[in-house]
Amino acid sequence: MNDVIDADRLVGLVKDLIRLDSSNPPGGESEVARHLAGVMEDLGARVELISAGDGRDSVVATVAGKDPTRTLAVNGHIDVVPVTGQTWTRDPFTPEVRGDRLYGRGACDMKGGIGAAIEAIRALRDHDSLPSTNVAFHLVADEETGGIFGTQWLMDRGHLAADACLVPEPTGLHVGVAERGALFARITVHGRGGHGSVPDSGVSAVAGAARVVDALHLRDFGVEHPLLGRTTCNVGKISGGAAPNVIAESCVIEVDRRLLPGASRDSAVKELLDVVESLDPPVDIDAEAIVFVEASEIDRAHPVVEWIDQIARSVRTDSEIVGSMLGSDARFYRNALSIPTVLLGPGDIAQAHTADEWVSLTDLTDAAHIYLRAFQSFR
Ligand SMILES: [Zn+2]
Repeated sequence: MNDVIDADRLVGLVKDLIRLDSSNPPGGESEVARHLAGVMEDLGARVELISAGDGRDSVVATVAGKDPTRTLAVNGHIDVVPVTGQTWTRDPFTPEVRGDRLYGRGACDMKGGIGAAIEAIRALRDHDSLPSTNVAFHLVADEETGGIFGTQWLMDRGHLAADACLVPEPTGLHVGVAERGALFARITVHGRGGHGSVPDSGVSAVAGAARVVDALHLRDFGVEHPLLGRTTCNVGKISGGAAPNVIAESCVIEVDRRLLPGASRDSAVKELLDVVESLDPPVDIDAEAIVFVEASEIDRAHPVVEWIDQIARSVRTDSEIVGSMLGSDARFYRNALSIPTVLLGPGDIAQAHTADEWVSLTDLTDAAHIYLRAFQSFR
């Protein structure tokens, strides 16, 4: 059935999705959700449109398979990052094909991947063929700002049952098995004020913060992952003090730590506190987590990884098993639901979130071939 992928039909669907602006923030996924609900209904799927509030709609669409006791989920986010502040040379929401590239916001991340997965179902249907198991499309809002109104919303309401999950995020058709997490923390350094003409009469929070920055920025926390490398620590923001002639009473720094699987919010904050508490003389601080996103992974020896890796290499001989530096909704499936989950999708992550975002047409059709084989062979 290799010749059954209809590249024009696939590109047509992705173009339709690009035209429907679902920028997040602010987040307005209803139009895309309704469009996809219609597409999936036409394909005979059982479709539920689930609203997480004004304009925040997701779709769960289940295509019946030969073995209805097993389900392969496909999680694709239907929101895109805003184009605000980016210099595009074309209209981001008027898709355009040039050579092997389809341009438009979301072409790469990740309306292209969603379109390729749906094309694989269409190809099966053209031949009156069913997938080997049920295929449940979780087409979700709000991935770009954390998933509260998307994947997490569906998870908390019991919509995400599956035996394995495929996430068509852009991986260049490599198999993504691990991703880093992140902690953004705010550290407030406390001082004791006084007159700037007698600087040793108080304790300068600015001077304390300088020592904290020196201790944390580029800090190596001593752990390493074979696919994700080492953790990172960036001090990205600082503000403090009142005036040149006042000993600073307070200075605030904000830190971005990227984390490996196994790190919790508490352990990641505690590691920061441990570093600061080891300073001599001591610096008086408070630390709080502003944002925390769990890292996640699936064992690369897991049968689901072997299965999808073989299929990927049968279409693209250069496909490898990789880790990603960015997070995705895969973490909800892997961590909270213990559903074996892999990323595999068309497009290069370097194109995601950029001006003049594009996806390769070759990647799109190769992805559809991979998904077709996956839907035919999942057990
Ligand atoms: Zn994405």
